[in-house]
Amino acid sequence: MIEVKVPDIGDFKEVDVIEVLVKPGDRVAKEASLVTLESDKATMEIPSSDAGVVKELRLKVGDKVSAGSLILLLEAEEASEKAPAIAEVPRAAQPAPMARAASGPAAAMPAADTDMRAEVVVLGSGPGGYTAAFRAADLGKSVILVERYPNLGGVCTNVGCIPSKALLHVARVITEAEETAEAGVTFGKPVIDVAKVRAWKDDVVGKGTKGIAGLAKQRKVIVVEGAGKFESPKTLLVKAKDGKSTRVAFDDCIIAAGSSVARIPGFPYGDPRLVDSTGALELPDVPKRLLVIGGGIIGLEMACVYDALGSKVTVVELMDGLIPGADRDLIRPLEKRIRARYEAILLKTKVAKLDAQKAGLLATFEGEGAPAPQLYDRVLLAVGRRPNGREIGAEGAGVKVDERGFIPVDKQCRTNVSHIFAIGDIVGEPMLAHKASHEAKVAAEVIAGHKAAFDARTIPSVAYTDPEVAWMGLTETEAAKRSVAYEKASFPWAASGRARSIGRTEGSTKLLYDPASKRILGAGMVGPNAGELIAEMVLALEMGADMDDIALTIHPHPTLSETPGFAAEVALGSVTDLYVPQKK
Ligand SMILES: Cc1cc2nc3c(=O)[nH]c(=O)nc-3n(C[C@H](O)[C@H](O)[C@H](O)COP(=O)(O)OP(=O)(O)OC[C@H]3O[C@@H](n4cnc5c(N)ncnc54)[C@H](O)[C@@H]3O)c2cc1C
Repeated sequence: MIEVKVPDIGDFKEVDVIEVLVKPGDRVAKEASLVTLESDKATMEIPSSDAGVVKELRLKVGDKVSAGSLILLLEAEEASEKAPAIAEVPRAAQPAPMARAASGPAAAMPAADTDMRAEVVVLGSGPGGYTAAFRAADLGKSVILVERYPNLGGVCTNVGCIPSKALLHVARVITEAEETAEAGVTFGKPVIDVAKVRAWKDDVVGKGTKGIAGLAKQRKVIVVEGAGKFESPKTLLVKAKDGKSTRVAFDDCIIAAGSSVARIPGFPYGDPRLVDSTGALELPDVPKRLLVIGGGIIGLEMACVYDALGSKVTVVELMDGLIPGADRDLIRPLEKRIRARYEAILLKTKVAKLDAQKAGLLATFEGEGAPAPQLYDRVLLAVGRRPNGREIGAEGAGVKVDERGFIPVDKQCRTNVSHIFAIGDIVGEPMLAHKASHEAKVAAEVIAGHKAAFDARTIPSVAYTDPEVAWMGLTETEAAKRSVAYEKASFPWAASGRARSIGRTEGSTKLLYDPASKRILGAGMVGPNAGELIAEMVLALEMGADMDDIALTIHPHPTLSETPGFAAEVALGSVTDLYVPQKK
């Protein structure tokens, strides 16, 4: 009979047993997880030292254990590979995770002056951080993931992509129901239970964060909660909310500490009626009059939500157009629609002053479109995000941070310190989740010795507004700036049977291509679901497709996905769903 005990787990005494993963009679493989322990610093699974059959459990949930505490009695089994082990079998068959599992607990053991160590420490658990941690773990590395908040997932899962898309879904259903009146079906005015909408959105977020925590656990990625700062090129000091510190040592580190909301100085930030995107996503109520400062993607997505819920929305933008990164022809249908729905869109205008008054926030405008000062029930500040490069003690490790707070990296996501990598919002624009997660895989793979590099041909952009706007590759604005020769083919959605059948004919799809080779250079779309449709064009660009490839790909009819095919036919002069006079 083998006594399986809690191994030396570093600076942990009297830690709670929060989960027992086996029961008497279970066959377990060597390294299969037996129990989950949780201290105020970390959660970890304790693996079995041997293979065999569990005879007797010697602890239960709620017990407190230290190194040497007896977990269970195991009847040894010589041919452990015969045992249908509970959790590890499929992964134990893979050489890399097996190696990692073997080094996992040992890796949590501290060096002389540290509390924990791992081969890879990832700072920040957003789409960059958790992807990097999981990929590194799958490649056989012992991994610690440091996150200052209790919930994993970063901005994207908690206060970004996911909650905003959940609320945009609600907005879309409301507006579609409203507009179905044109098709002869009139619904009553929607009754909006704000608390229920909020709870639904929170549930969507909660499922995401819990899912990520579960995936971490399955991979034996140790999560340490607290704000991390570099103490040296090989250690991070992680401070928990209660003031406790954990010194974490690493061989390689991946910085994925993301970005924060940018602010305009001088506004009354103590006033709860002035919110950022996080505050707007909390959906405390539906304000009667909402001012959105910033006509970029985040501002316009939130405007779309609150407009559908019933707010009178004004958008103010300093530049001469909305969503400055996108070509103007793609923005026009969006602008036309929201000008008709919203109270005002003020371009080339800024909010010079915001005064907190009893009746609301009084905005004083300056610029071309400036109206007289206006009182709003809520003001959303959405003027961009700034990288968190200055908040992680980068100097402690000698990691270079530029004047804007970005951390410069090479194509392998390596900083100026060769064993420290950085990914996601903290390394530069575009600040998008899919860029972060792709960089994450590159960094983890490079650390694991793979020949990886970030060499994507494009990072697509999507505004999930109504209508959606999506683009990838070369834009016309950029082509003009860089004097790139291109030709353009556009297909108006008014000629798409599917667009007509959903009553949304304002959209369009355009392709930019090389005049000589006819290879695709870029694409842009505006219309419902443009964000889904753009993916095919990203693949086309990555594969070096030309207009023939796209036109000869049979797209299902009637779908909006036909529109890039039709646009390619426009380029080739073979389109029949439109009349385009033949070039002589
Ligand atoms: C409202 C909104 C909507 C968005 N919608 C989209 C969208 O639809 N599509 C899209 O692609 N992108 C969207 N984004 C952008 C997207 O959220 C970010 O690009 C993405 O989250 C960046 O990922 P990241 O891993 O680099 O950093 P983040 O997600 O910012 O994660 C960084 C993590 O690091 C943690 N951290 C920071 N410093 C420390 C420290 N010192 N110690 C410990 N932990 C630390 C933070 O708490 C955070 O959890 C949206 C953003 C917002 C605000």
